[in-house]
Amino acid sequence: MQLNQDVRINLDRFWSTIEASALIGPGRPGGMSRLTLTDEDREMRSLFERWCTDAGLRIVIDEVGNMFARREGSEPDLPPIFIGSHLDTQINGGRFDGIAGVLAGLEIVRTLNDNGYETRRAIVIVNWTNEEGARFSPPMVASGCFAGKHQVSWVHDLIADDGARFGDELERIGYRGEQRCPGTPPDAYYELHIEQGPILDAEHRQVGIVISSYPSVGMRVKFSGETAHTGPTPMDLRKNALIAGARWLTAVDEIGWDFSVGDGKATGARLAAWPNKPGILSDYAQAICDVRHPDPVTTRVMAEKMRRAVFECAAIAGCKADIEDEWFWGGDIFDHDMIDVLHTEAERMGFDWRDIQSQAGHDAYFLATVCPTAMIFAPCRDGITHNNLESCEPEDFSAGINVLLHAAVARADR
Ligand SMILES: [Zn+2]
Repeated sequence: MQLNQDVRINLDRFWSTIEASALIGPGRPGGMSRLTLTDEDREMRSLFERWCTDAGLRIVIDEVGNMFARREGSEPDLPPIFIGSHLDTQINGGRFDGIAGVLAGLEIVRTLNDNGYETRRAIVIVNWTNEEGARFSPPMVASGCFAGKHQVSWVHDLIADDGARFGDELERIGYRGEQRCPGTPPDAYYELHIEQGPILDAEHRQVGIVISSYPSVGMRVKFSGETAHTGPTPMDLRKNALIAGARWLTAVDEIGWDFSVGDGKATGARLAAWPNKPGILSDYAQAICDVRHPDPVTTRVMAEKMRRAVFECAAIAGCKADIEDEWFWGGDIFDHDMIDVLHTEAERMGFDWRDIQSQAGHDAYFLATVCPTAMIFAPCRDGITHNNLESCEPEDFSAGINVLLHAAVARADR
């Protein structure tokens, strides 16, 4: 049996789930502020769980709160197909980032139910915990844990700015599951996401097929100084960690400008300091920066400049520096066979598609280390994202979800 080639998803039904999600944890007008492991996250998770149960899926939760909603296949022993993304948002987030990918999985399952179609392999919709890293840094910790990159205990011990511990919050909202991490890799992983960039919208393309991602290197650095009075302390005796961190952030920003001609980007993303008060120099600062560039060698050069700047900036401010964490993602990580099938399906259905590179971080990057992985991008207005003005129309998802439907079902029937 093969899924009828003319089957299409129900766009209105998909959109109604987006609208229901947008009511849970709204932020600034039109946007979302549904941070991970908050009461709003719990409410969204339980709504998602109810939708999945109604669609006949079986839900399993793992030790870091990842949710797996399984639609059984005719051969339950075969590794399943995962379709996933995340239901958490940035603090000033949009209604589609991540959410559209999870709800696309739900719409695909509902479409298969409508058609009474049984795939050979199971299809599992996944909601990855804390993709954004907006409350617990770094991002994508739970997909990283599934893929064996992070230890469960390390994830549980992450502390938010509000003082909450990841493991305690997971327990509190009732989503600490039994399933062990790292998880068993699926046969394949698909993630649909809004582009979060302006290319598809500017070119009026219906769908982007992600062929690779910008290699990116990020660092979390601790600067250590000494508290002292801001008045009498001579300049040459100052060890102000806040200044070390501030200098590093601007140095990294300069690296971005230096490489911007080739579309290099560098971000000074975060600076936290203690005591961070008037009248006293700060003895502690934590800073997070990252660099990315389409070319992997150039990314490495930018990363090395970022690394050297850590110690130069610390020295100028009389402080010590420790690179506490360093991460790398991206490159030629997606599965070429899966990309071929996406091309074929987009062409067959007559969509206006193009190949595209991913520039943001995604859970798919960790999944790609353990199983064949592919991503699909839907257009969003002017590429605005991580902003309450993030905007899409229902039609923006029609091509992407239909391509995903047929590609995932073909893969599930292998
Ligand atoms: Zn996202």
